[in-house]
Amino acid sequence: MLGGASHVTAHTPKNEALDVIEHLVRRIAREAGVDIVGFGDVRAALPPGFGHLPVAISLGVAHPAMRALLEDGALSAQGLERELCDHRDAVGQAKLETGLRRLSSLFRAQGYRYFGCPPECDPMDSPFTSLVARRFSHKAAATCAGLGWVGRHGLLNHPVYGPHVSWATMLTNAPLRTSTPAVVSECGECGRCVAACPAGAISGRVWCREDGMARIVDIERCRKFLDENERATGRRVCGRCAVACATARLAVREG
Ligand code: SF4
Ligand code: SF4
Repeated sequence: MLGGASHVTAHTPKNEALDVIEHLVRRIAREAGVDIVGFGDVRAALPPGFGHLPVAISLGVAHPAMRALLEDGALSAQGLERELCDHRDAVGQAKLETGLRRLSSLFRAQGYRYFGCPPECDPMDSPFTSLVARRFSHKAAATCAGLGWVGRHGLLNHPVYGPHVSWATMLTNAPLRTSTPAVVSECGECGRCVAACPAGAISGRVWCREDGMARIVDIERCRKFLDENERATGRRVCGRCAVACATARLAVREG
């Protein structure tokens, strides 16, 4: 299971209690089939009314095509594009729902407060960039947990699986050690998603936490392109920016 780097702390009885809760959370997530777990201090990102839940547990499940690429090396560039064209991962989303449900039971039994933010029901129904406008996004939680950064395409980029991860978040007041947050982009000189966007919606600006999502993606341009696609094909899809990001990883792997 992958996760962000936790703060190093001295070994005391109090820390041992924290270790027990963290261990329980990780075990529950793993048994639910979750690939990625991280803990973030989200106080700066919380919407009004959520201040009593300062810690976010980010749960991620990698798209099976990325697993095939990175674990078996079994996919060509064409195969990867074909697989990621349909980025829905109903199995991954079911795993996340199970993880949230079981964590709710744990926190309820232990007397902690919690609020589960479920994964997307069907990401094909909403533009990629609509994630930017969410009230409290999985992206904010995962960056606070140090699990990834926001790429030039405006999506959360996990260092291994890129944007092809389904996410869910559990907010809680359980005493959990939080990780160092991601505060700057790690896209470097890459600009594949910018070049791949047929709508010219991606500005190329690199993300940093201080500036937020401003001027990264022109949501209106992206939405218009999706509208046109829907009129032409009956399907509200694009995602070329995310596929380009996956093929960037393939290029790195092939050296
Ligand atoms: S590549 Fe497609 S989904 Fe991505 S920003 Fe451009 S129009 Fe939107
Ligand atoms: S394709 Fe390159 S520039 Fe775009 S998000 Fe991925 S790593 Fe960043």
